[in-house]
Formats: sequence, C-alpha cells, structure tokens
Amino acid sequence: ERSAVTEQLLSRIRDIPDHPEPGILFKDITPLLNDASALRAGVEALADPYRELGVDHVVGLEARGFILGAPVALELGAGFVPARKAGKLPAATIEQSYDLEYGTAAVEIHSDAIAPGSRVLIVDDVLATGGTGRAAVDLVHRAGGTVVGFSVLMELGALRGREKMPDVEPHVLLSV
Ligand code: AMP
Repeated sequence: ERSAVTEQLLSRIRDIPDHPEPGILFKDITPLLNDASALRAGVEALADPYRELGVDHVVGLEARGFILGAPVALELGAGFVPARKAGKLPAATIEQSYDLEYGTAAVEIHSDAIAPGSRVLIVDDVLATGGTGRAAVDLVHRAGGTVVGFSVLMELGALRGREKMPDVEPHVLLSV
C-alpha cells in the first residue's frame, strides 16, 4: 500500500536502460526535479525524520545529492557540505576511497567543513551498492562528526547497499 506522495514521486522517476553503460538501469530523477509539487514533496519527505534531531550539516553526494541536499539543509536549518569526487574541491580536503566492481573511487570533503562533535545528515538520490554512502559515513566520522542519518529518494534493494552501513539506518522514500 503506497502513499499518495510515494506514488507521486515514483511517477516522476524515469528508467533509462543501458545508461551510462550496458546492463545499468539508470533512475533518472530529472522529471521529479522539474515538477514543482514533486520537488517540494520529495525534499520535505527527505527532511521529515530529522526535523527534531538537531542537524548541523547536510552532506550532499555529488552530483544529485547537491541538488537535493541543499534544500534539505534549508528545511533543517543546517549548513550544506558538498562531498565531491576526488580532485574537485579547491581547499584542503580529507579523502575516502572505496571499491568499485573494477578498481576504486574516492570522495572528498573540505577538511574544515565539519566541526568535531557536529551532527550530520547525508543525502543522495539513489542508494545502489552503498559504496558511496559508506565512504561518506567514514569521512564524517574521520572529521569527528556524528552521522544522524542517511536520507535517499530511492534504494535499489537487490544491490544490498544498506548492508554496508549497519551503523546507519537509511531513510528511503522509494524501494525498488
Ligand atoms: P553506490 O555507491 O553504488 O550506492 O551508488 C550510488 C551513487 O551512484 C549515487 O550517487 C547514485 O546517484 C548513483 N547511482 C548508482 N546506481 C544508479 C542507478 N541505477 N541510477 C541512478 N543513479 C545511480
């Protein structure tokens, strides 16, 4: 039994087969972003469980986590911190690498972005294998922050990403 908001969000996510490579079913959220009502509903639903939890920073994961994370930060009265692919941020960074199917990748935040003891919510569009989310959680911990949650529009359950973060209960709007 799906709620009206869930149905609304689901109807605005478009499946693109074989993007960016054969075998990947890409979840395209641009129709959701381009629908004023769905955008508002999605941002509010991502923020809702965390309104009373005293969030100091929202960390958004490049690139769609930037788009969703900044308005979630506004909803929560928090600051916004971009977590970028390695080599993009201009000032001193801390970096966390993680394994891909073939090879490794890395994400970074500015080393002074998260004060020790601060409370952090991580936001992204899709939880897939969980590699990116795990790296972000580890970065926040290394900066001395506390992860209060991981909020995503959609979880691809078959990829079992949440098993990579037993220490963080993901808040997922849509499970597919
Ligand atoms: P992962 O590290 O495997 O959990 O992948 C998460 C990151 O990759 C997120 O930032 C997503 O935006 C992106 N991603 C992974 N798989 C998909 C997919 N099927 N559709 C859209 N985005 C995806």
